[in-house]
Amino acid sequence: MKFISLFTPLILLMASCQTTRKAENSASTQKSAHLKKIDPDDLSPFEDLESNSKSNMPPSHIAVSENRVQTKKAHESHGSLSSFCQTELSSLPGKFSEESLKKVCRKVTVKEGCESFEENPIFHYQKNGYSKNAKRILVLSLIHGDEFPSGSVSRSWMIRLENIEPRNSWRVIPISNPDGLHRKTRTNARNVDINRNFPTKDWDRLALFWWRTKKKSDPRRYPGPTAASERETQCIMKHIDEYDPHFIISIHTPLGVLDFDGPKSIEFPRFSPLPWISLGNFPGSLGRYMWVDHNVPVLTIELKGSYGVKRLQEFDRLQDISGTVAIQSDRILRANKQRSFNDK
Ligand SMILES: [Zn+2]
Repeated sequence: MKFISLFTPLILLMASCQTTRKAENSASTQKSAHLKKIDPDDLSPFEDLESNSKSNMPPSHIAVSENRVQTKKAHESHGSLSSFCQTELSSLPGKFSEESLKKVCRKVTVKEGCESFEENPIFHYQKNGYSKNAKRILVLSLIHGDEFPSGSVSRSWMIRLENIEPRNSWRVIPISNPDGLHRKTRTNARNVDINRNFPTKDWDRLALFWWRTKKKSDPRRYPGPTAASERETQCIMKHIDEYDPHFIISIHTPLGVLDFDGPKSIEFPRFSPLPWISLGNFPGSLGRYMWVDHNVPVLTIELKGSYGVKRLQEFDRLQDISGTVAIQSDRILRANKQRSFNDK
């Protein structure tokens, strides 16, 4: 009986996912009413399988070290920022044109204070839109350093932006956690999960408690000693503060879904490789910080393993779809604001 009670929720979940997928296939747009709740931390993506042995380690890093690990700073061995950009982005999987990337990397800059714990620059690329109503869209990838294909999609989008006149304005931070990328770890060099370190209103009350109880102190999901304790988190917050985005896109792997924290009445444009499925958000996560606390929609693109890397052109279409959702979201949020203003 125990077996049944343990597995029944899983079977129901699988059945509900199948129902959702069928519904999506028959419709050209996907409404949030059909979204099913899945806790991504309860699934077993390949990254978790690979690091099972690690996740049983005692959380010895709770006392986060202030000592930098004496590794060679990557940008020092490459000289300029543009060659650092070129080297780092070339190391990611998937096809791209070296020449086009060179053009992009000549234009990247670093915001003051955007340096990782191991003093690697957290650079960004920006392209402004032609439309006078252009929305500002902030794209983040490699918040989790071991999710390489997420950076490949950003690289592809940056190269594309360089060659088109976009309707919206885009700022892309392709490597949000450079130390994690070098170490091939989800967490940063201080063993903190950046996507649990954002200062959500409930951080002090819930983040560490949630981690200890619900995640059994899994070292891969350690939210940090205090909210926004990490340089990488602080850098992203500076961008949010200064760029003031209408819409944020955060690219991850490997769950293979489009997860949206934003207004519920969106008509989601169909993107057949990835269904729209809500994953929910967590204390300290970007989705909770920006959407729940600050009313800025966050689209989380969860790539399906290396699928995106093999079909980067399809993901160019996803960039356009994301732009459309950004415009739609802004329209809905403005209308809601106007309605609540009129009601006063
Ligand atoms: Zn991730």
